[in-house]
Amino acid sequence: MHIRLLGTAAAEGWPAVFCSCAHCDRARAAGGRSVRTRSSANVDGAWQFDFGPDAYAQALAGNDLRALRHLIFTHSHEDHLNPADLGMRRPPFAHGCDEPLHVWGNDRVIGILAPHFSDPARGGLALHALRPFEAIGVGDATLIPLLADHDRNEACLIHLFGRGGRWLLYGHDTGIPPESTWGYLAAWAAQHHRLDVVLLDCTNGPGSGRENHMGLPAAAEVRERLLQIGAAAPGARFVATHFSHNGGLLHDELVARAAPLGLEVAYDGMEITAG
Ligand SMILES: [Zn+2]
Ligand SMILES: [Zn+2]
Ligand SMILES: [Zn+2]
Repeated sequence: MHIRLLGTAAAEGWPAVFCSCAHCDRARAAGGRSVRTRSSANVDGAWQFDFGPDAYAQALAGNDLRALRHLIFTHSHEDHLNPADLGMRRPPFAHGCDEPLHVWGNDRVIGILAPHFSDPARGGLALHALRPFEAIGVGDATLIPLLADHDRNEACLIHLFGRGGRWLLYGHDTGIPPESTWGYLAAWAAQHHRLDVVLLDCTNGPGSGRENHMGLPAAAEVRERLLQIGAAAPGARFVATHFSHNGGLLHDELVARAAPLGLEVAYDGMEITAG
C-alpha cells in the first residue's frame, strides 16, 4: 500500500488564506514543508480520502485524478468537500470520464452531492452512503467507517482501509475517538488485524485539545492505546497531520516535539509505503 499525503493543513491552510499572524509569516518565509494545503491523501492511485478546495492545486503537484476510482469522505466540512471541482468531471469540462467515480460518504456528504450528480452516464458520480462500523468493499480494498468525535451535526467518520493485507487508519478530523470506535478496534484487533499506518488529527499542534480535534499530547495518547489493545503492528507508523496555523510550530519544530512521542509529522507530498 502506497499512501501519498496531498495536503496536511486544517481548514484555513498554512499560511492561512487571509492571515497576518506571526505563524503564517514564519511559514511564508520558511517555505518547504511548513507550507501546507488542505488535508487529503491518495492511496495506490485509485483511492482518495477527501476532496477539498486544494484538490486542483494538488493535481498540479502530481496527483493524477484521472486514475481515481473511489473517493472516500470523512465529513462535509468545506476543507474536505468541494462540490464545485467535482462538477469539472463532466463534459464539456472533462472528456474521457466514461466510468462513474464512486463516492463514499455519510448522509450529509451524499445529501450535498446528490442534487448535482444524479446521472453517472454523463461522467458523474456514483454516490454511496456509509454506515459506521459496516465494512464494505471499495474495488479490491476494504473500507470500515468508524465514528469520530467531531461535528455533532453529522456522523463524522474516520476510516479503516485495508488492501493487500495492509491496513491504514485515516484518523482525522476527530478528538479522542468515542468508546464505540475503541470497542470496534479492540474486537478487530482480537481477530488478528493490525494497523500498519495511522494518520492522526493534530490540528492544535503542541496544544492540548482532546475533543473535536487533537494536538500532540492527545495524538500520543491515541497511539499508546492502539498499541495497548494490540491494534497496531510492531513498527507501525504513526503520523500526525491536519495542522492549524494557530498551533504555531513550523514543520521542523513539530518534528522535534513529536519524535519523542513516537509520532512522525506529515508534510505535503509525504510518501508512506506499507509492506
Ligand atoms: Zn478539517
Ligand atoms: Zn495565521
Ligand atoms: Zn472538520
